[in-house]
Amino acid sequence: MTEGATEAATEARRLEGAPFATDIRARVAAEVAAFTEEQGRPPGLAVVICGRSAPSMVYLERILKGCAAVGVRGEMVDVEGDDAVRMEAGLTTALRRLNADPTVNGIIVQMPLPKGVRLRTVIDAIDPLKDIDGIHPLNAGLLRLGFEGFVPATAHAALEMIHRSGVEVRGADAVVIGRSAVVGMPLAFLLTREDATVTVCHSKTRALADKVRRADIVVVAAGQPGLVTGEMLKPGAVVIDVGINVLEGRIVGDVDFESARGVAGAITPVPGGVGPLTNALLLSHLVRAAQRQASEAREVAET
Ligand code: NDP
Repeated sequence: MTEGATEAATEARRLEGAPFATDIRARVAAEVAAFTEEQGRPPGLAVVICGRSAPSMVYLERILKGCAAVGVRGEMVDVEGDDAVRMEAGLTTALRRLNADPTVNGIIVQMPLPKGVRLRTVIDAIDPLKDIDGIHPLNAGLLRLGFEGFVPATAHAALEMIHRSGVEVRGADAVVIGRSAVVGMPLAFLLTREDATVTVCHSKTRALADKVRRADIVVVAAGQPGLVTGEMLKPGAVVIDVGINVLEGRIVGDVDFESARGVAGAITPVPGGVGPLTNALLLSHLVRAAQRQASEAREVAET
């Protein structure tokens, strides 16, 4: 039995993301300052957006603000086009230009892509060394094989929350609800790598409640408000809610917080849990990419 599941809690500990994000940002800011001093320029992040939609703009503006706060040069790259074919061509051109620009160290492409614009277009064009949100198959494959690569920031944030809950991951029974390439599957691989026994659930899973009830760690990334309730949980379980849903004008997660907090040992709120950590970790990935590219450039210059 794990630390988080030894006894039923009367009220779950709230795992707030903001204090952890503040720690990570402080570390990133120091690394950015050292990089800038050494290279004579700050690390650069390009955020590519295909067709502007209001929710995307809010999210992207938050990322760019986060860049400025730690000294990173952030730029937004708009890809325009009247139809999907032109947009895909514009996307390929933009990504090739950013790949070739040594002042751009990391590239993220805003998801979801507009209708008809294929993810394959991004995968075929983005440089895996600049793919700081881990969507390129090289990075996904490195994770699958247990090597160092870029992991999607949301999956990384969920794992970080699990670590910070204090639960012992080794030997724990974990249930991950959701099997997407950006959250569910990378998290399942990360937890497996840390010796948890992982059950991945999805929309066709039978008897979901029975599986959840056995888990010491429950991660929910389904986009379904209220999917997990308190009565489905093992007392003391650590519950990580990745879901972001708008319900009656409010942002809610996938877990029914009110019933879950009486049973869980620790739980992330929505908003304010995994979300704030995601952007901070994305910046830490950027710094790692910038440092790696600078060291490779040095090696090339020395040969
Ligand atoms: P996807 O829609 O790509 O995947 C959802 C997954 O949940 C699928 O595997 C689906 O199963 C499964 N699912 C859907 N309904 C059920 C159900 N009733 N029971 C069990 N499984 C179900 O979403 P994402 O992975 O991109 O995102 C998941 C959630 O996380 C969303 O709410 C999203 O908004 C949020 N999110 C949060 C972020 C953050 O920073 N906090 C960042 C990114 C996403 P199937 O494969 O069978 O269809």
